[in-house]
Amino acid sequence: MELDRMDENDWKYHGEGNKSLVVSHVQHCRVLRLLKYPAEDSENPPQTAEQAFRQIQNIVDFTSNVMSCLLGEKFVHSGEVVRLPLEFVRQLSIKIQHQRPAWRCDKVMDIYSGCALCLPNLTSPTLHQPTPTPPLCIEIKPKCGFLPSPKHVSKDIKTRVCRYCMHQHYKVANGKWKRRSLYCPLDLFSGNRQRMHFAIRHLIEEPQNNLKVFKGGQCIYSSKEGSDESPDTNSLLHHLRPYFLRGNNRVNGHMTTKAVLNDFIQVLGNALLSAAGGDGGQVTDRTGEGRSFCEASLFNRERIRHGSQGLPTNNILSRILQTQMLDSLDIEGLYPLYCRVEQHLQDFPKDRTGLQIDGPYDQNFLEKVQKCSMEDDGSVEYAAAKVHQYRIAMTAKDCSIMVTLVPSGEEEDDDEDLSSQKRLRDFRPQAFSSSVSVLDLDPKPLDSVPRQLRLDQKIVSCYLRTGGTLP
Ligand code: ATP
Ligand code: ZN
Ligand code: MG
Ligand code: MG
Repeated sequence: MELDRMDENDWKYHGEGNKSLVVSHVQHCRVLRLLKYPAEDSENPPQTAEQAFRQIQNIVDFTSNVMSCLLGEKFVHSGEVVRLPLEFVRQLSIKIQHQRPAWRCDKVMDIYSGCALCLPNLTSPTLHQPTPTPPLCIEIKPKCGFLPSPKHVSKDIKTRVCRYCMHQHYKVANGKWKRRSLYCPLDLFSGNRQRMHFAIRHLIEEPQNNLKVFKGGQCIYSSKEGSDESPDTNSLLHHLRPYFLRGNNRVNGHMTTKAVLNDFIQVLGNALLSAAGGDGGQVTDRTGEGRSFCEASLFNRERIRHGSQGLPTNNILSRILQTQMLDSLDIEGLYPLYCRVEQHLQDFPKDRTGLQIDGPYDQNFLEKVQKCSMEDDGSVEYAAAKVHQYRIAMTAKDCSIMVTLVPSGEEEDDDEDLSSQKRLRDFRPQAFSSSVSVLDLDPKPLDSVPRQLRLDQKIVSCYLRTGGTLP
C-alpha cells in the first residue's frame, strides 16, 4: 500500500461501530479503521490532527502492550497508525456515505486528521490454496461473562441476573431494540456444550450488535437497530447449506434446515473452545461459586448433566473472561477509588502523567496493573491501579471475537474400513480449519467510569421496575 498514492476506488465500505468506521481494500487483505465524531462537531473537529494521531497510537500501544499480553499474542493484531492524504479521506467519506446505515449517521467520519489505523482484514484471510466455498467469518461481541461478587453491590439482583440480560430489558424499554435477545453471556462462557449451543442459537435468532456473519469478506447477516423485522435467518441458512452438505450427502443427500443450523453452531463452538497452545487443563469451573449462572437465562439448569465441563484454559473465551474479571470490585466498589484518583488529580494535576492516566500504555503500565496488591493502603497509587484494571476489564467486556472458518479443500477420506457413522462424526469437525482473533481493543477513557456508574444505576432500577414482565 503506497500511502502517497491512495485511490478511494480501491476501498469500499466494510462496517462501523460506535467509535470508528472501517473500509476494506478491494484486493489486499487490509482494512483502514477511521475515527468518528458526533455529527454536530462535523464543522470543527473536537481534536487536532496531532491529538488524533496520539489517540490512535495509544490504541496500538494499549493493544500490543496490554491486551495482547492478557489475551494472548496469537489472538491479537495491533496494526499501525497511518497518515493518509486528506483529499483521499474526503473522497472516501463521500463515496461511502450512502452505504452507511441511517442509525449510525449521528456520527461522521473524521476527514480532518488524515490518521487511521491500518489492520489485516480479518474477514478475508489470505488463503494458501483455493477452497470450494469462500471462508466464513463469524463476529461475536460476547459482553460480560460473570456475575459480580455480592461483597460490592448494593442491589442483590446484580448477583443473580447478569448485566447483559438486565441491559436487554433497558434497551427494549427505551426502544433501542424491538425484541429482547435470549442470548446470555454466562451460557456462552460456561464451557458447557449445551449451554454454549443455546447461547449461540439465540445470538443467531436476535443478533442485535452481538453477531455478524461474513462470507468471502461481505457481511451477509446482521441486525438493524430499531427495525421491526428480524434479520432473515432463512437467507443465512441458505448461505450456510453448501458448507455443511458436503460432509453429509454421502449418508443422506437431504439435510434439514435444523441440521444445518446445528452443524454450524457445533463448528463455531468447537472453534471457540479450541486451545491455543499450552496445556488445555480445566480450571475455570466457577459453578461452585454460584457466579456462573444467570437467573434470566432461559436455559434450563436441569439440562446440565452431571459432571458438566468447565471452561478449558487457554482458549479465547477463558482469556477474555479472566481479563473481564480484573473488574473485581464492580463499578460500585470501584467508584470511591475513582473519586480518590479524581480528587488527587485536582490537587496535583501534574501527577496525571506519573500515574499514567492517559497512557503511555507501555510495559510499566502493565506492571502497575499486574502487581496491584489486594489490600487498599489508602494510597492514590492503589486507587489508580484498580481504576486501570477496571478500564482494561471494560475493554474486554466490549471486544469482539472473530472466528474464521476456512473450508478444507481436501476430498473426503475414502477409507472403506470406517463405518459411515464413524466417518460422518469424524468428517464434520474437520471440514473447516478455524482461527480466532480478537478485535476492538481500544482503551476506555477515565471519564467513562462515572458514566458507567450512572448507566448501571439506570439499568438496575429499570430492571427492578419492569424485569421479567417484558416479552
Ligand atoms: P464498538 O461500537 O463495538 O466499540 P468500534 O466503533 O470500536 O465498535 P470496531 O468494532 O473496531 O469499531 O469496528 C467496527 C466493525 O468493523 C467491527 O464490528 C467489524 O465488523 C469491522 N472490523 C473492525 N476491524 C476489522 C478487521 N481488522 N477486519 C475486518 N473487519 C473489521
Ligand atoms: Zn444473563
Ligand atoms: Mg466493536
Ligand atoms: Mg470499540
